[in-house]
Amino acid sequence: MENHLQTKDWGLGLKGHVIIAGPCSAETPEQIEKVCLDMKKENMIPNIFRAGIWKPRTRPGSFEGIGEDGLKWMEIVRHHLNIPITTEVGNAAHVELALKHKVDVLWIGARTTVNPFAVQEIADALQGVDIPVMVKNPMNPDLQLWLGALERLQAVGINKLAAIHRGFSDSYDKRFRNKPNWSMPIHLKREWKGMEVINDPSHIVGNRAGILETSQRAINFGLDGLMIETHHDPDNAWSDAKQQVTPAALKDILSKIDFKSTTGFENPGERLNDLRTAVDHLDDQLLDLLQERFSLIDQIGAYKREHNLTVFQSDRWKFVMESRTQKGVQKNLSEKFMKELLYCIHEESVKRQEKQLREADPVKK
Ligand code: PEP
Ligand code: MN
Repeated sequence: MENHLQTKDWGLGLKGHVIIAGPCSAETPEQIEKVCLDMKKENMIPNIFRAGIWKPRTRPGSFEGIGEDGLKWMEIVRHHLNIPITTEVGNAAHVELALKHKVDVLWIGARTTVNPFAVQEIADALQGVDIPVMVKNPMNPDLQLWLGALERLQAVGINKLAAIHRGFSDSYDKRFRNKPNWSMPIHLKREWKGMEVINDPSHIVGNRAGILETSQRAINFGLDGLMIETHHDPDNAWSDAKQQVTPAALKDILSKIDFKSTTGFENPGERLNDLRTAVDHLDDQLLDLLQERFSLIDQIGAYKREHNLTVFQSDRWKFVMESRTQKGVQKNLSEKFMKELLYCIHEESVKRQEKQLREADPVKK
């Protein structure tokens, strides 16, 4: 799919990445205007302006979105910034109103993507409409659900599709509001050639301080852009106050990101440097994947401990060795290399699980 989200580089060296920014929620016409004016003042105009009109809140009673009035205020954005506008739709009535008010791009939220009935209702309401739709990952890390939502939209003729990685609900890992799973967007891009995947660090980290680091990781993983919640007065925002940043802070974050180009080499003289940068980029991904793998190993260790299972399970080990070696050989890696690599990873896994055991029960060990 070719750049459906219209990219401009605002002198920040974005290398073709899409920047979507704007408040979590539209609150008042004054708020929308202030955000736009501050973006203009900072010369930090995103490619697409976001604003939530209907807010899916976990508990009732908090601000659930301003509704249709907010769509009328999008004229303010058009007047000041003249850029496309996107909002979240959660049902057919939302779609109808968003189309009536000429919203340019729609997105489906994480709480909606989990529900095929809801996604189908939205898809049916979009039958015959030519509009780009971005689909956030479901709350739980299920690639099939994510793909399924995209397929339901494709089936009614929506062909300007993009995905948004916003992390997954995980009540154990307190470092994140929604834990990222970097292999999932990579799998999605592999399964669906050309699919653009935008990263939403705001909902992943849930605070301002972590946005830069998570954005950089997303770019390292080859994602295509960032959606960052931006408000002129984040502390007083009506929703997601902790994670929104000012347009000035957004500009600062973007200027610190090392945007990596995923396209080919333009200048043959710089070929070696480009190749090395590509290797650096892949090594970053390898390390992140290893970190994720060992975190899963730790969870398996905890399970074995709870269920009194031995750390070393020979059948499982045999299966892992044989299946991975076979796959590696098919990918033109030598059998010797595969075996050494797997032994090395396995040894580290066993050591970690033994350490967990010692720490959990220092008397026994
Ligand atoms: C949002 O973008 O404001 C939002 C509610 O996102 P999510 O669906 O990722 O929770
Ligand atoms: Mn939000």
